[in-house]
Amino acid sequence: LTSSTQPVAAISGAASGIGLALATLYAQRGVNVIAGYYPADPHDPALAAAQVEAAGGNALWLPLDVASTDSVDAFIAQGVQHFGRLDYMVANAGILRRAPIEEMSDARWDDMLNVDLTGVMRCFRAATPHLHAGASLVAVSSIAGGVYGWQDHAHYAAAKAAVPGICRSLAVELAPRGVRCNAIIPGLIETPQSLDKQNSLGPEGLAKAASAIPLARVGRPEEIAKVIAFLTSEESSYLTGQSLIVDGGLTVR
Ligand code: NAD
Repeated sequence: LTSSTQPVAAISGAASGIGLALATLYAQRGVNVIAGYYPADPHDPALAAAQVEAAGGNALWLPLDVASTDSVDAFIAQGVQHFGRLDYMVANAGILRRAPIEEMSDARWDDMLNVDLTGVMRCFRAATPHLHAGASLVAVSSIAGGVYGWQDHAHYAAAKAAVPGICRSLAVELAPRGVRCNAIIPGLIETPQSLDKQNSLGPEGLAKAASAIPLARVGRPEEIAKVIAFLTSEESSYLTGQSLIVDGGLTVR
């Protein structure tokens, strides 16, 4: 197998929403993609793959469950074997499940933290041995984690709040190798997750929320993807250990 001369990015949760927007953007910019799709989800990875291919990209689609160490390790190993290198790991996969505190069983709590928190660590742990000077790690947190109280989501808030801490720690730990680590903190972004009425705002809730946002609209997944691509690129070569809020001004109002 030949080593890719282009940068290679691994993305968890690449078949929908922010992850798919990012895979598409990387494709347009000549970054090869190791794209993880979650087989248990209804999103059709073939549709996502077609979109990335149409953008001119070279992507390897692999099943990935970030709740499983074996799955994450196999995902990274197969991807690196295919492309011969790894430059960026974007820990984007996440779930959102409404759970009022009286209904917060230990199992629901543990499931959430296993995916949205430990899943980030698993991805970074598997990727790190392959990284070199100039490489970059990015995790997707949420305003619900640090700066915005959201009812019925204590487990999600706990998981997302811990993510910038992981990034600060790894920023210092990996700096001697020239590897950077940052988090992005999206506000309200229109994706399958936020459009899910049962667990999130749904289409009507999103439309209503727009009036509280200074930019007067919810964000598009492409607008988060562009900032993640900035965080992995050379453009942000002196930026590490930070968490960027990208929310249309919602939390500074
Ligand atoms: P999404 O539901 O489209 O994307 C989440 C992806 O993660 C899906 O493709 C899903 O299949 C995948 N996934 C779920 N469980 C997984 C598992 N166990 N292993 C591997 N993959 C798994 O929604 P999105 O909004 O694009 O979410 C992307 C990230 O952005 C998530 O971490 C989410 O919490 C975060 N986020 C979203 C918003 C928003 O308003 N949409 C705001 C803040 C943060």
